[in-house]
Amino acid sequence: MSEMTAATRTALPPVFERIDDLRARLGGVRADGDRIVLVPTMGALHAGHRALVDRARELGEYVVVSIFVNPLQFGPSEDLDRYPRTLETDLAALAGRADAVFAPSVSQMYPDGPTATRISAGEAGTVFEGASRPGHFDGMLTVVAKLLNIVQPSFAMFGQKDAQQVYLVQRMVHDLNLPVSIEAVPTVRESDGLALSSRNRYLAAPARAASVEVFSALADAADARQHGVEAVLAAARSRIEAEPAVKLDYLVAVDPATFLPVHDGYRGPVTLLLAAAVGEARLIDNAQLLIE
Ligand code: AMP
Repeated sequence: MSEMTAATRTALPPVFERIDDLRARLGGVRADGDRIVLVPTMGALHAGHRALVDRARELGEYVVVSIFVNPLQFGPSEDLDRYPRTLETDLAALAGRADAVFAPSVSQMYPDGPTATRISAGEAGTVFEGASRPGHFDGMLTVVAKLLNIVQPSFAMFGQKDAQQVYLVQRMVHDLNLPVSIEAVPTVRESDGLALSSRNRYLAAPARAASVEVFSALADAADARQHGVEAVLAAARSRIEAEPAVKLDYLVAVDPATFLPVHDGYRGPVTLLLAAAVGEARLIDNAQLLIE
């Protein structure tokens, strides 16, 4: 039976800080025959995360949201220290949505310091987002593997917003025969198209106004899809180049099945990946297109 009865609908979800305590609770859930769904997050929850949690509820009876800012996936010059930590508000946002929150400390997850054992994302982890953030995907996969082993869910939810992340997690699950199904959830956007992100709070007003061009570039690219891959890329690039406040990091069209770049003459599904610096923030977004 789900714990989400009418009486608990507005109550804050129980918070587990210790792996042993969470596992003991989940043992009981499993014994009742309930399917567990994991939603891994770093907190600072917004409507994008809530979409993952709401979809999780459709897939199983017991929804666990993990909130953990994973040091392993941050580079030395990245925003680990200033990454927003808003546990109280996050719990309120999960009231009536999650059955449990797993919010471990760094020492709970890494009692011996950064793990000597790591998952390698391989070549595909060193390109695009991985080229700009060396080691990011190895750190991400390592914590996702730990979370999957701790929670042992039937399903784990990831946002399509982080397309390379979903690809790499799906490949890890395939390569290592992990007994879990990965569900990708479409990107939730602001009304002007900006993809929701915990890092959008780094956008000061002028940068926020310019940031809409990231989405507009993807929209222009989609409009050009009948003219082939190079036209798609050119349409996106010219939109970005027209806005000096947006500095393009990478723009590439990949085959979603392999994450390898595709070129003119290619026909089939494409994921268009874009990353750009806008003011203090680094934004990533993507679109899925069919080139016919
Ligand atoms: P994060 O807390 O940024 O690590 O994100 C946790 C999960 O939420 C990841 O699977 C993200 O891809 C997903 N996510 C973040 N932003 C969005 C969004 N705007 N729409 C859908 N999913 C998202």
